Order: sequence, then C-alpha cells, then structure tokens
Amino acid sequence: MRKPVIAGNWKMYKTPKESLAFLEAFLPMVEGHDRDEIGLFPTMSSLGYVLDRIEHTNVFAGAQTMHWMNEGPYTGQTSPTMLASIRCTHVLLGHSERRIYAHETDDMVNWKLKAAIAHDLTPIVCVGETLDKRQTGLTEAVLRWQIACALNGVEPEGTGKMIIAYEPVWAIGTGSTATPTQVEEAHKIIRREVGERIGHERAAETRIIYGGSVKPENTAMLMAQPDIDGALVGGASLAPETFAGIVKYQLPG
Ligand code: PEP
Repeated sequence: MRKPVIAGNWKMYKTPKESLAFLEAFLPMVEGHDRDEIGLFPTMSSLGYVLDRIEHTNVFAGAQTMHWMNEGPYTGQTSPTMLASIRCTHVLLGHSERRIYAHETDDMVNWKLKAAIAHDLTPIVCVGETLDKRQTGLTEAVLRWQIACALNGVEPEGTGKMIIAYEPVWAIGTGSTATPTQVEEAHKIIRREVGERIGHERAAETRIIYGGSVKPENTAMLMAQPDIDGALVGGASLAPETFAGIVKYQLPG
C-alpha cells in the first residue's frame, strides 16, 4: 500500500509570523486526519519555527532545497547536516523553479539525492517536461532522462523513503492542470523507469505524486487514478482553508 502524500510548497511566500498564523488555523482543520501524509515546505527563514510548531502533530515539514555538501564556502546554501540538526525530515529536490532560476542541473539533483539518503532525509525528487517538449512529443524522453540521471549510482537499498513528484512545467502556477489521463500516463512512464534503475519491486512501492495547479476542485479526480499517490501543491497551499480542502478530498463513489 502506498500511503498518499499531500504536500504544500510555499515557495518564497510567508514570513515566520505568517507561517505560524497559517498553522494556528490549519492544524485544527486536519487534526486526526491520517488517510494521507500531510506536509509543508516553508522558506528557510520559517522552517525552524514551523518544525517547532508541528512537533507531535500529523504534519511534517521540509526544506525547498539543500546543498549536497555538509559544509563549506557556499554562501547562501544550507546543508543536509544542518537540516537534520533542526529535525527537518523532508527535502524537495530539483523543483523546476530551482532548475530554471538557480540553474540546478540533473547532476546536482543526483548529488543531492545521494546526500539526502545519506542523512536519512525523505527526498521528493521533482521531474517534468516543458510545454515545448510535450508539444514535440518528447515527454517520455525527458521524464526517463531526468529519472535516470537522478538515480544514477544510487543504491536501491537507500531509496525506501524516496518520493517522486511529477510536475509538468507548463502546469505549475499557470492554472492549467494536466488531465488525470496525462498524469496517469506520465506516472506509468516514471514508475517503469524507476523500476529499470532500482528494481520493479521497489518501484511499485515508490510514491509518485503530481504537482501543477492542484486545487480543491480537481484533487479527487486526480487522486482517483491508481498511479497518482498524492499531490504537491503550490499556490493553493497558501491559504489554510483551501489547502485543508485539498487534504480532505473525497474519492468518488
Ligand atoms: C509547485 O510549486 O510545486 C506547484 C505545483 O505550484 P502550483 O500548484 O501553484 O502550480
């Protein structure tokens, strides 16, 4: 059984005060909910506050990125050791906004994945094609390439916690969600490629979640697909009511 994961990526939104105000409203709304794992990815300046506040709740929190080294002269970076030291449990890797604006490469995602595994952090590895690649029929090639690079040299034994997020770049922050069929097709491609890299048994247990304009109105139809194991939510995770509405999706029937 793959337990669904619903996680909010707050990108560069919310001060510590705003993050805590969100939690004051949100935590009671999801108290006792254990059908899905619920997570939040605040900015680095809010992460410590959020981690303190969610202790002993059913919500986890993680970092939006990290470096792969433990320490060094890398201004502006945060290391896996530093995340682990504040009881951070999860980390997003290779989000398309990091790939585009911070020039993160497939190699870096691979190094970060190995570092996350070494520090027992749960990595959420983000992959996804641009509109141009989809329109030129290259979706499968892009997904397979990104997965192959991310998992290059990764020991299968370390991948038990790994989550993959399929986030088509054309659906992020645009309001145009991929259809359940498009997502299901992409997740099948990803699962097959993960299987080629770390074994099909492990791939069958790996959670693959979808991100790209997820809203309360479209969550249930996405979650009804057999290969969609959760959602990574950007804009719609910023308001407690809306994000709680997504967490509490009701499957049809
Ligand atoms: C994201 O930031 O990962 C994301 C999916 O954003 P949005 O839900 O706003 O499209």
